[in-house]
Amino acid sequence: MKTIATVVGARPQFIKVAPVSKALAASGAVKEVLIHTGQHFDADMSDVFFDELGIAKPNHQLAIHGGGHGAMTGAMLQKLEPLLERLKPDRVLIYGDTNSTLAGALAAAKLHIPVAHVEAGLRSFNRAMPEEINRIIADQLSDLLFTSTDAAVNNLRQEGISDARIFPVGDVMYDAALQFAQSASERKDIFAANSIESGRYALATVHRAENTDNTERLRNIVTALEQVALKVPVILPLHPRTAARLNTEGLAFSKVKTIPPVGYLDMVALESQAAVIATDSGGVQKEAFFYQVPCVTLRDETEWVELIELGWNRLASPAKADITGSILAAIGTKGTNSQPYGDGQSAQAIAKVLAAH
Ligand code: UDP
Repeated sequence: MKTIATVVGARPQFIKVAPVSKALAASGAVKEVLIHTGQHFDADMSDVFFDELGIAKPNHQLAIHGGGHGAMTGAMLQKLEPLLERLKPDRVLIYGDTNSTLAGALAAAKLHIPVAHVEAGLRSFNRAMPEEINRIIADQLSDLLFTSTDAAVNNLRQEGISDARIFPVGDVMYDAALQFAQSASERKDIFAANSIESGRYALATVHRAENTDNTERLRNIVTALEQVALKVPVILPLHPRTAARLNTEGLAFSKVKTIPPVGYLDMVALESQAAVIATDSGGVQKEAFFYQVPCVTLRDETEWVELIELGWNRLASPAKADITGSILAAIGTKGTNSQPYGDGQSAQAIAKVLAAH
């Protein structure tokens, strides 16, 4: 049986791993070894996802977090290289665009272990984003590229990657959304605990470095969400990076209700009942669409361009736009119905390709 070493470390990767690991196990053709780099380590940023989504405990925990990009990626490489040498997997499987993605791709490629990348081909065309650098390198080093969207396929072609390496399987987060919809719909306590009612609140998330690490953008976001909160309750599960930056900058929310990061099921419950979602998260933009909730993306660009084209999402740059107006104006709007993220069977398609290669 083939062995696949999966390298993950950050919250969105745990959600993507859940359906794929299940499909790999069901295929019976592949043994998966799960390596957690430790990039996200708080219980509410890591353990809760393993518990709620039924992901097997990681086989290896590298416990690397904090530090700058170089220090973190370097420390991951240092630990991944001997581990992969020892495990001798037939392939390394990576997800998304974090430092764990980059380290997994680099460590494997240097050891001549083939790499497969889930959520390949996404581009913001903004190389100031650390994620964009991680994506470009990860895609170049991977021989199997699993894409979520038509736009991603086109981006890879533009970079000269041959169709033989591209597998348009759809989006594994859509698989996860379908698989956990029922359990999420049963989560009621989160509403009572925060005194919010279905359809009568805005949900916000903020964590991209371009927003948290830029004082002006962070201040604009805080001001705008506070203004929205004068009209409609706003709930904001606060990412640890954002919490730390608000503290350093002496910024604080008063009308917006901030809560610690929530687990996936509570998050889906909050997303699916929101009147509007304002976010700089990639995953949350898509989930807003899955639950047919209008979304405002607090960025200058997005990788999920199809959602803008379909009218479910719009951009509001924290550098200049009237964010408050955009968020309030989005309430009650609908986009065009479409299914740009596949049929909810992406994980099975990935497992099939991995078993065959
Ligand atoms: N998420 C969550 N709890 C939260 C905030 C987000 O479970 O408090 C989930 C969200 O539903 C989505 C994923 O985390 O599935 C998105 O991750 P994140 O925003 O951290 O990263 P990105 O998608 O931008 O890479």
